[in-house]
Amino acid sequence: MKKYSLSSSLDLVKGIGPKALAKLSPRHINKIADLLFYFPYRFVDYSRYCQIKNIEPEQWCHFTAEIKSIKSSWAPRRSLTVVSAMAEDNSGSIKIVWYNNRYITRYLKKNQTYIFLAKAVSDKNGFYISNPTFINQKESAEIQYIVPIYSEISGLNSKWFMDKIKPVIPLAAKIKDHFSPDIRSRLDLYSLPQAISSIHQPEHRQDIERAQYRLGFDEIFWLQLKSIYQKNKNSHTRALGVKKDIKFIQQQLRHLPFELTNSQKKALWEIMIDISQKQPMNRLLEGDVGSGKTIVAALAMAIMANNGYQSFFIAPTEILALQHFQKLHQYLSSNSYRMAILTSSQAKIVELGEIITTSKNDLLDQLRQNKINILVATHAILNTKITFPQLNLVVVDEQHRFGVEQRNYFSSPDNHLQPHHLSISATPIPRSLAMTIYGHLTLSQIKSLPAGRRPIITHIINPLDRQRCYQFVDQQIKAGRQAYIICPLVEESDKIQVKSAKAEYIRLQKEIFPSLNLGLLHGQLKGQEKDRILSEFQQGQINILVATSVIEVGIDIANASIIIIEGAERFGLSGLHQLRGRVGRGSHQSYCFLFTDQPTPKVMTRLQVLTETLDGFAIAEADLKLRGPGEISGLKQSGLPDLKMASLSNQTLIKQSYQLAQDIINSDPELKKHPEMKKKLNQMTLHLS
Ligand code: ADP
Ligand code: MG
Repeated sequence: MKKYSLSSSLDLVKGIGPKALAKLSPRHINKIADLLFYFPYRFVDYSRYCQIKNIEPEQWCHFTAEIKSIKSSWAPRRSLTVVSAMAEDNSGSIKIVWYNNRYITRYLKKNQTYIFLAKAVSDKNGFYISNPTFINQKESAEIQYIVPIYSEISGLNSKWFMDKIKPVIPLAAKIKDHFSPDIRSRLDLYSLPQAISSIHQPEHRQDIERAQYRLGFDEIFWLQLKSIYQKNKNSHTRALGVKKDIKFIQQQLRHLPFELTNSQKKALWEIMIDISQKQPMNRLLEGDVGSGKTIVAALAMAIMANNGYQSFFIAPTEILALQHFQKLHQYLSSNSYRMAILTSSQAKIVELGEIITTSKNDLLDQLRQNKINILVATHAILNTKITFPQLNLVVVDEQHRFGVEQRNYFSSPDNHLQPHHLSISATPIPRSLAMTIYGHLTLSQIKSLPAGRRPIITHIINPLDRQRCYQFVDQQIKAGRQAYIICPLVEESDKIQVKSAKAEYIRLQKEIFPSLNLGLLHGQLKGQEKDRILSEFQQGQINILVATSVIEVGIDIANASIIIIEGAERFGLSGLHQLRGRVGRGSHQSYCFLFTDQPTPKVMTRLQVLTETLDGFAIAEADLKLRGPGEISGLKQSGLPDLKMASLSNQTLIKQSYQLAQDIINSDPELKKHPEMKKKLNQMTLHLS
């Protein structure tokens, strides 16, 4: 065995070559330590021993039996090889079947005895065992009866991970534990090395539980520590308060084309109170898609402008920046505020109600001279040095999903003076989770949608009904509506995703909707190109917009009333809900059609949640419940933190980790005595600052 350490590159491990490495690297698995932190998401427990006569269907067990006959045949109708054998012990005999694995006959010999790890099935083909693993009885000492199951990465399957992880498990002993033995014994926690080796190679069920508890404890602990550390830091900063001016707000509201909902009014009031204080606001404005968060943020910015202060609105993407800019322009048009937008491809200023294009330098100059009241920008722009002499409000849209760097985006002459801070999120999350990860923020929730919206009708579409669904879309478009078609999510690479979106776009245009005008939108298009396509869609020149999930957040086009989501099973529920929120924004009846090629019971149960409710909070709850620990697919889209082991319903775990984090910050607020912890916190970008 070669010598290696935790920090060795993975290609030192036997059987891992450059090809596998290239698949793992995008998932941040590069070193041996990373592999050890790739946890199984479930286990199959074969430790119960059974005699053949006692084997029951759908139960996992192991049994010892002799092979009496074995034969391989070809099933032409299903085009697969079937190997079937009869196995016997002194209690009886049972049929065993392997599909598409003709090598079995090389390893399994007649009249030899093996130990089988198995689950029996009972169906129209009788009572039998399908695809068991087995080992020669002579090697029984090597059997691991509790088998970890890892999620597959680009074709590297669970068995691959098990084989590769096994030889490096002894290195877990070298992992440094950030908790002292004292803390561990007080909280009855496994050590980190113990937890890691047990999670990959548990001997008993209890090992799994204790290992999961420790690993889950760590996940929640880091979130809590970060949150408490931040809150503590914030409490020492000062801000400029602005007077609550009810008259001014009433006057603004009179100019809007609609009346605010009660939830919007409440959120606005909470913000007004916060920004009147001499401590910076740190508020999260959370509300479902379409609940009308932008107007609330816009009014807060108007208050600032009215008091001579500047505001900075940071959007995750170019498309959204532009859309926010247009909305602000619309909502605040009764005032003569100077608003600007700055992205990597454009610089524009509103002057006397007209949007005019300028240069980036000119725009930055005007900002520096306090001639601009509101700047909308993409967070890509944060690398530029921007000077705001009177900045007093920063609004960040969807920060938790895009990991905007912490507040290095303004320079204040006095370090202790901070602008007020408002984060906006369209990811409704359960309160338990909100308290855990956003404990340092105060929360405003917009819980109701503006009146008069028709509920979106959601259907899961059987693959056989695909054509009929396309016909329906065709009819709706002939009636004047527009549609989105969202291509499947490809987690591995943007390139593949774009490639498949292009192919789908061509197929749909040529074969399905030859007489309609289709557009294609994906993340690799240049900003101007995206704007052009979106504005064509907005103006109705494009009937169907084929898009990757870039469309997901925020796009607001009222005439679009249909959304088809391909490969729906690959998205998290909250992600799907977000996508669905692209329609149902106007007065027309809207539809969401979920396509899946994998209508397994598990997938169907998950997707059914969407057909049953439109309430983002309920969906988020269901998402958390249904998503077993470790199911990472679609997580980035849902905006929830990447929890592999922790269960948020485990109150003890949440309480204990909170208490520990609080104790540490109380005794060492700057984490001077805990440099490793501080380093780790600085590397965490996932949640709000
Ligand atoms: P989101 O919360 O998803 O960002 P938006 O702010 O984009 O929602 O608002 C969605 C749409 O609803 C916009 O067209 C907006 O002008 C409109 N809207 C916002 N508030 C109201 C309201 N109280 N009544 C009617 N329409 C509203
Ligand atoms: Mg929005």
